[in-house]
Amino acid sequence: MKESPFDIAIIGGGLAGLSLSILLARSGYRVFLAEKKHYPMHRVCGEYISTESKPFLTSLGVDLKSVSRITQLQISAPNGTLLRSKLDSGGIGISRFELDRQLFQLALNAGVCIQTETQIDEVLDRTSKYELRAAGQAQATARLVISAHGKRSNLDRYWNRTFFSQRSPYVGVKYHVRSDFPKDTIALHNFKNGYCGFSAVENDLYCLCYLVARSELKAAGSVETLERKNLHQNPFLKSIWETSTFVWDQPLVINEISFAPKSRIENACLQLGDAAGMIAPLCGNGMSMALHSAMLVHQAIQEAGIEHPSLIFKHYDRAWKKQFKWRLLAGRTIQGMFGSTWTTNMVVSALKHTPQITRGIIRLTHGSPF
Ligand SMILES: Cc1cc2nc3c(=O)[nH]c(=O)nc-3n(C[C@H](O)[C@H](O)[C@H](O)COP(=O)(O)OP(=O)(O)OC[C@H]3O[C@@H](n4cnc5c(N)ncnc54)[C@H](O)[C@@H]3O)c2cc1C
Repeated sequence: MKESPFDIAIIGGGLAGLSLSILLARSGYRVFLAEKKHYPMHRVCGEYISTESKPFLTSLGVDLKSVSRITQLQISAPNGTLLRSKLDSGGIGISRFELDRQLFQLALNAGVCIQTETQIDEVLDRTSKYELRAAGQAQATARLVISAHGKRSNLDRYWNRTFFSQRSPYVGVKYHVRSDFPKDTIALHNFKNGYCGFSAVENDLYCLCYLVARSELKAAGSVETLERKNLHQNPFLKSIWETSTFVWDQPLVINEISFAPKSRIENACLQLGDAAGMIAPLCGNGMSMALHSAMLVHQAIQEAGIEHPSLIFKHYDRAWKKQFKWRLLAGRTIQGMFGSTWTTNMVVSALKHTPQITRGIIRLTHGSPF
């Protein structure tokens, strides 16, 4: 076991966990972070970050020099209707491999004690401190435990969270490819029961990432057949597959993606990032929400003081609802608009002729710079 107790233990070293660990360590807290994988790693993610996060990432010390600046949006319907729009606030393209690698290094430099390849499976209350355990072994104790374990994890089962017992209907698939697609543009191409994002990241690479109903993958029997039978019915997707060079032999695939509402607190452990609620990926904003939620927790701890956990929870919960409640609702509504092939064809055709409404919808899912 690491020399304990720590002031704060964080479970999960994705965007939310790593950025919070950096903020807390820089504020003078002794921070322990457990991550079940090792760095650097690829993740299923569209890798488009809305510009609102740029000041925060820069303040953490993330080098954004080589990222792609994205200012244009294309949306296509399954029938090939194409809508183009300017992205008013825009975004940046950076791979998770690179972004998480940089945050990991910044956290180490800030003095965070990071233990990788450690999957926490129990959090025990040991009177005025908590013990984190993995595979029956104590890993660390801390006065406060914060969980940033992502969209779905063993801890959701451990805490018996309501959404865990419901089967989640979506699967995510991601590739890195080379292409001559404009680097300032993100494309969102719809197909039967799914959509696929395509945009540049660093080093002349592009992220090609789609979300699809699990039932479609099951019916197709394999990712390759699914792509041929569903995705390639959209002429833009067919062209991407035909003209791009795929960098990996196999795609990254994850399942059980759920957008169900979640609680911000579970057995005295504060939840942040996707663990507190996930926005539909087509909004391109989950990463900004994860980063922003880390900033809100840091502020709540600074305001309330580590010795007042219930006040920390109260401050955080209030700030979280103010920032994200409506955005998550907008995300669910927009995801619903792209529900079936028929409605998607209708919505894209209608929005094509109403640019102000299109930009208004985009604004609903994006927040202000932080
Ligand atoms: C298909 C798809 C496309 C997306 N596209 C975009 C996009 O283009 N733009 C955007 O902004 N967002 C996008 N998102 C959402 C975005 O990826 C997430 O919102 C973001 O990664 C959330 O960050 P996080 O830190 O909360 O979780 P994560 O980044 O998932 O990190 C959680 C970490 O916790 C670790 N962990 C889990 N359980 C344990 C445990 N028990 N012990 C220790 N460690 C544990 C995991 O290994 C992981 O490293 C997309 C999501 C999907 C599914």
